[in-house]
Amino acid sequence: MSWQPKARLEKLQYPWLEVSGVELAILRLDAIDPLISGNKWYKLRPHLLAARAAGSRYIASVGGAHSNHLHALAAAGKRFGFNSVGLLRGHEQDTPTVRDLQTMGMQLHWLGYEGYRQRHQPNFWLRWQNRYADLYPIDEGGLSLLSAQGCAVLVDAVRAQLASIGWTDYHGWWLGVGTGTTLAGLRIAEDAHREVYGALAVPADHGPAEQVSRLLREAGMPDQGYCLVEASRQGFARIDAELLSFMQESERSGRFFFEPVYTAKALLALRNQVSNGYLRGGTRLVFVHTGGLQGRRALPVSA
Ligand SMILES: *Cc1c(COP(=O)(O)O)cnc(C)c1O
Repeated sequence: MSWQPKARLEKLQYPWLEVSGVELAILRLDAIDPLISGNKWYKLRPHLLAARAAGSRYIASVGGAHSNHLHALAAAGKRFGFNSVGLLRGHEQDTPTVRDLQTMGMQLHWLGYEGYRQRHQPNFWLRWQNRYADLYPIDEGGLSLLSAQGCAVLVDAVRAQLASIGWTDYHGWWLGVGTGTTLAGLRIAEDAHREVYGALAVPADHGPAEQVSRLLREAGMPDQGYCLVEASRQGFARIDAELLSFMQESERSGRFFFEPVYTAKALLALRNQVSNGYLRGGTRLVFVHTGGLQGRRALPVSA
């Protein structure tokens, strides 16, 4: 598991950026590997190392029928010699993601909605640990300080490639937020020297702000150095016409593809901030492409 993929940094050019003088680079976590994609690998890696150290043969987590997190877990399990167990929300469904999970050998259990609601209960994992010997559980979405710390290497990856895009420095980060783990990881690694902007892909009542605060507290860091911006529009995974046309427009060059749940919403929220003049000309930001393109197959937009 010494495998540490190289995330490419590239300049991103759009007319709305040119007009404003804001400069954007994109960190391509969507292109690190054919199977294990996005921020999920960085969040999983420290857990896989811990599972291996503990001698666990089973790794398990929780998610929905389009989950990028379960997809990466199944792929990583297969590649690094773990059996993977996926606990799914709701009732059995056939989606491209679910089919991949099965192909990659993940054991699937459908929890129903009531069972899924219990995922944060302290003894939720007991039943599964009894069923699968030495099972290593990972919370939904990888929410944990360990996962946040696994994202610190992204800061190194950007710094090592600044010269290649003609930058000597940058002012901050822009990325989509679900659990807030990746954002917290960047905030911890930057130690508040650069701003980390999180575009909320989930509504505030999912608790992303509280989760980021908690992760920073666990890391022994002050609750500052980041900024959360509403970006979920009508709710998590809700897609509207403006979002779709913005996404398609942003893909026109054929060099970058997004998905509407996190990355296109994050980019649109940034476009709105820029258009409203909230970011000064000359500001240099790193936009993290957090991946997730596998989930796009089930949506009414194909790449
Ligand atoms: C999971 C995910 C996120 C959110 O990451 P968090 O660390 O949970 O905030 C963002 N983008 C994509 C594509 C994801 O799959």
